[in-house]
Amino acid sequence: MIATLPNLLGEIRACRVCEPELPLGARPVLVADTRARVLVAGQAPGTRVHATGIPWNDASGKRLREWLGLEAEVFYDPARVAIVPMGFCYPGTGKSGDLPPRAECRRLWHDRVFSLLPGLRLRIVIGQYAQAYHLAGRTRPNLTQTVAAWREFAPALYPLPHPSPRNQMWLRRNPWFAEELLPDLRAAVRRVLAG
Ligand code: SF4
Repeated sequence: MIATLPNLLGEIRACRVCEPELPLGARPVLVADTRARVLVAGQAPGTRVHATGIPWNDASGKRLREWLGLEAEVFYDPARVAIVPMGFCYPGTGKSGDLPPRAECRRLWHDRVFSLLPGLRLRIVIGQYAQAYHLAGRTRPNLTQTVAAWREFAPALYPLPHPSPRNQMWLRRNPWFAEELLPDLRAAVRRVLAG
């Protein structure tokens, strides 16, 4: 089969490789279009995203759009924003929240997807799994330190914590995030989508 993005997305949406391990079965959720300039790279769908097939369709997504300064209409426009998490299917829940994204996904798909997204100019990279992939060896010992080093990666890439409302304490402890990183990120998003 010819290596085009639509062909690859068709292969991914039919993927059932780790279905026996997935509590709700396979339902790969991602958005990708060769025209996209901004990438949102997160962890994996939660149950609500699994049920609807719409990425970031929850309270975390609402807060993420506020962080980015994007209306839903732009955020969900594939010609502008690609949404490619590290795991495409809901992985299930463990003792301390959702399980990590399935490693099979990264092994099978990610390099191929990103080789077909040549227009990406800004990567918004959320959480430790996406940061390990997109920062490839440049992460710090923990997520807070990686996010605190954002000036090293901007304006092409911004590492973020998860925008879950449960992360309120992290935001209070790290006021520089809202005061310095977010205004810079919003300006970068505006520039990239306008240019
Ligand atoms: S998580 Fe990834 S590798 Fe596993 S079934 Fe879903 S798309 Fe396939």
